[in-house]
Amino acid sequence: MPKPRLILVLGDQLSPGLSALRAADPARDLVVMAEGMGEGTSVPHHPQKIALILSAMRHFAKDLQAAGWRVAYSRLDDPANGQTLVAEILRRASEVGAGALLCTHPGEWRVLADLQALPLDVSVLPDDRFLCSHAEFAAWAEGRKELRMEWFYREMRRRTGLLMQGDTPAGGQWNFDAENRKRAERGLLRPQPLRFAPDAVTDEVLALVEARFAHFGTARPFGWPVTRVQALEALADFAAHRLPSFGAEQDAMLEGEPWLSHSLLSAALNIGLLGPLEVCRAVEDAWRAGKVPLNAAEGFIRQIIGWREYVRGIWALKGPEYLGANALGHSRALPAAYWDGETRMACLGAAVAQTRDLAYAHHIQRLMVTGNFALLAGVDPAAVHEWYLSVYIDAFEWVEAPNTLGMSQWADGGVVGSKPYVSSGAYIDRMSDHCRGCGYKVAEKTGEAACPFNLLYWQFLDRHRARFVRNPRMAQMYRTWDRMDAGHRARVLADAAMLLTRLDRGEAV
Ligand code: FAD
Ligand code: SF4
Repeated sequence: MPKPRLILVLGDQLSPGLSALRAADPARDLVVMAEGMGEGTSVPHHPQKIALILSAMRHFAKDLQAAGWRVAYSRLDDPANGQTLVAEILRRASEVGAGALLCTHPGEWRVLADLQALPLDVSVLPDDRFLCSHAEFAAWAEGRKELRMEWFYREMRRRTGLLMQGDTPAGGQWNFDAENRKRAERGLLRPQPLRFAPDAVTDEVLALVEARFAHFGTARPFGWPVTRVQALEALADFAAHRLPSFGAEQDAMLEGEPWLSHSLLSAALNIGLLGPLEVCRAVEDAWRAGKVPLNAAEGFIRQIIGWREYVRGIWALKGPEYLGANALGHSRALPAAYWDGETRMACLGAAVAQTRDLAYAHHIQRLMVTGNFALLAGVDPAAVHEWYLSVYIDAFEWVEAPNTLGMSQWADGGVVGSKPYVSSGAYIDRMSDHCRGCGYKVAEKTGEAACPFNLLYWQFLDRHRARFVRNPRMAQMYRTWDRMDAGHRARVLADAAMLLTRLDRGEAV
């Protein structure tokens, strides 16, 4: 019998069809799965995120054992646990005399570097749980001046055949966003998403996490799917009950309604409990059966085969250097409000409180509230990146970094977004009901009560004038600013400077 090889399965690789498992021999090889304080504290991950990963890993390990695999599983509270991935791999290698390790490409550059430095014969296999491989994305990007998601998305539609009628997109359009930017109505009885009461495994893990990790966020109530069976139930529930209004409500925000019509499927997708194609097929089937409108199905499918695949492609194409991107030279510390929620700004306070309690905020909250404010205030993108990577249930570097550094902070100098996603308070007022209960006034442009987004928006444009004034998508904004009375402009800039000074002093704003 040849020597056993180690087969590494990471906490976001919980898919029975994982490339490393497909390449392994259950009769010969040993699957290695390791919980560790090292991974749990690489950034201060939200307790629900740590609990999700540990519980899902424990369930997955049981399934592998039931399917005939030998699994060496290191629990966090095992006294022999070396508490880092590297220590546990080396311990298992010496226990069974293994000299080789097979793994699937990790979604974090730091982990890849650690694995490649192991004193073992390490084979890194592609992660083919995505619809576009690194090589295919690189081929698509080759020779293009701009890597716009919309063009990539159309290719993915053609390639997968999703929502296609022959060579043309269903409904004659690729994109129905014009129908997808509605305000959400208050007081509607929206179907609540399916949440899952913790079973004994999750309960044990939650107690462990509460005892060991004093990180931002509450561990309970915990309702995330931790097995594939639960994830499939969550998908079916979404497709039946909330997908019909997904499109219309996609960009809306309502006080006290964290979920609206969102799917809450990102974490299950990102740890491997669901695959992107099966999720999109379920959505397409619902549309073909006449149960959901095309704008909802298309809007959802675009997020998965468009944005999700695209940001992964960018992450792979740009490599580890991308993590240090800071095109705008921003250096301010992350305001304390991102951790303690202490702020008069109703929109920011709601997003942070919800993030603390649920480990969840939907896309527009991440992009146009917390992201927008950090960008306008000139926060160091590395600090913003660390915050997003820490606090969300679905945050893994390959998806979080291009969204944060690229889409949200424009730190990559325009690779992901042709212009920065910045707005004044008017956008938040249009898309939410936060402003009516806010300590600031969205209609005020200067003075004590002026909405901070209003002050900082113009200050941002002013301080980055040289870079953006010739951007055709921003020219109108500069014209508007230039037409304002000089005295008003000076007041805006002075009030914005005062606000930034207060942030620098660590005061709550
Ligand atoms: P829905 O609104 O129901 O969307 C459906 C699915 O589409 C999601 O489950 C997700 O898989 C996919 N999706 C939607 N938008 C994106 C996107 N921009 N990039 C990739 N996939 C997308 N998403 C993550 O999965 N992990 C992250 O760490 C992450 N960090 C983000 C950071 C910032 C600053 C921003 C602006 C966005 C980030 N996103 C991230 C994208 C998006 O906000 C989340 O995918 C979404 O909010 C997850 O909630 P949901 O499952 O209810 O999504
Ligand atoms: Fe947010 Fe400004 Fe509206 Fe307050 S007034 S909720 S700070 S946008």
